[in-house]
Amino acid sequence: MNIKQFILRIFGSKKQKTASVGMPASQSKKMQKMMAMLSNTREVELTCDEVFALLDQFTELAAQGEDVRKLMPLVQQHLDMCEDCREEYRVLESILNATA
Ligand SMILES: [Zn+2]
Repeated sequence: MNIKQFILRIFGSKKQKTASVGMPASQSKKMQKMMAMLSNTREVELTCDEVFALLDQFTELAAQGEDVRKLMPLVQQHLDMCEDCREEYRVLESILNATA
């Protein structure tokens, strides 16, 4: 089940009751709460700076064929959602490949 389905499922059942009243305010508040809750399920999140500090190592491990998803899951997680750091990773990767 993905997040969208999960949210639809939770709000879907309540929607019918509140539909006639009009819902935007309470609905979006609930949605914010929900999103906060979902993002809090991650234990720790790295900042861009922290990821950047680890990126050399991460890139090298990845280049060696190590399972970086297991070794540095937080970095991988950040790269999955941060376009800036992903770009940085691509640059480092290409440098590494060029010098290897
Ligand atoms: Zn980032």
